[in-house]
Amino acid sequence: QGDLHIDGVTKVFTDFTAVDDLTLDVPRGSFFALLGPSGCGKTTTLRMVAGLEQPTSGRILIGDTDLTGSRPYERPVNTVFQSYALFPHLTVRDNVAFGPKRRGESDALRLADEALELVEMTRFAGRKPGQLSGGQQQRVAVARALVNRPEVLLLDEPLGALDLKLRRQMQVELKGIQTEVGLTFIHVTHDQEEAMTMADTVAVMNLGRVEQMGHPEVLYDLPRTTFVANFLGQSNLGNGRVVDTDGDDLVVEVAGTTARIPKARSTVSSGAVTFGVRPEKVRISDERPRDAGNDVRATVVDVSFTGVATQYLVTVPSGSTWMVYEQNLDVERNHLRPGDEVWLEWSSGHAFGV
Ligand code: ADP
Ligand code: MG
Repeated sequence: QGDLHIDGVTKVFTDFTAVDDLTLDVPRGSFFALLGPSGCGKTTTLRMVAGLEQPTSGRILIGDTDLTGSRPYERPVNTVFQSYALFPHLTVRDNVAFGPKRRGESDALRLADEALELVEMTRFAGRKPGQLSGGQQQRVAVARALVNRPEVLLLDEPLGALDLKLRRQMQVELKGIQTEVGLTFIHVTHDQEEAMTMADTVAVMNLGRVEQMGHPEVLYDLPRTTFVANFLGQSNLGNGRVVDTDGDDLVVEVAGTTARIPKARSTVSSGAVTFGVRPEKVRISDERPRDAGNDVRATVVDVSFTGVATQYLVTVPSGSTWMVYEQNLDVERNHLRPGDEVWLEWSSGHAFGV
């Protein structure tokens, strides 16, 4: 009960398919992120859940109730947009009390105060939106949606207008609010770090479809498509070929070397395969690793210090550029320079194939 089901939903605008046979099951009380590049159909999906847009085909249900055809205000759903859309002439408290008042609820102001407490905006209840910062206005917008006690709260890039620091802070706060109220949050973003930070489940969308869905750590560790491997963090990818199998491993020729991928970590079991390994899983050294196996010779092209890590760009024998992150545990160790011949090495358990 209270679960959201998007069941084979397609949305065609004239001759353009914005959402393509989308199926998602979102359990009640989860923090679910829809992540994807601009134009992949995220907003269209939310608008269909909200009832602002009708699917061309397919059904949307909350629990056993089919929402198809019901009006937006009849749905147990509220939306928070990037533009806060607060009423400028009303105080914060009256903005939040607006929905309950319109429904004739006698305790509208008490409900508004409760919602404002939840987003820690009690002190600002008497102000007008114009007297608030962007982050504070966004909190009011969240309170104004929560006061209606929806079963599902839709958030469409709600932090998009905030600067980076405030955004990081609001990510943690919004997640805290969701845990406290226990409602289903569907959070749309094109920011992979935001999705991974906030959500217990992430669906990666591309061209109107879900490419992969799951717990953020699982998506990051084991991407099943090259799109996901590149969209969620960085990946070193190489065109490879499966040349043999050895126990639980595939033996792959890639980037001018031979490397292993555990069979369970590859969507491909023979022939052409795209080999992948994350930059922070690769060790870089000017000495050949002792347990050779998953290693390759490389030439340093660029070294940049990012604070948390040093980022190396290197070329591997196939001519591709790979990236390596090395944590700055000991800055004095960072002695590699462009032009240096180095060895890269990783454990096969960190490689993946798609
Ligand atoms: P996102 O939110 O992921 O950036 P949208 O859902 O807004 O993507 O849009 C998906 C695609 O559908 C885009 O190519 C967009 O131009 C198109 N689209 C969205 N709304 C309409 C509309 N009302 N009419 C025609 N095309 C639309
Ligand atoms: Mg959008």
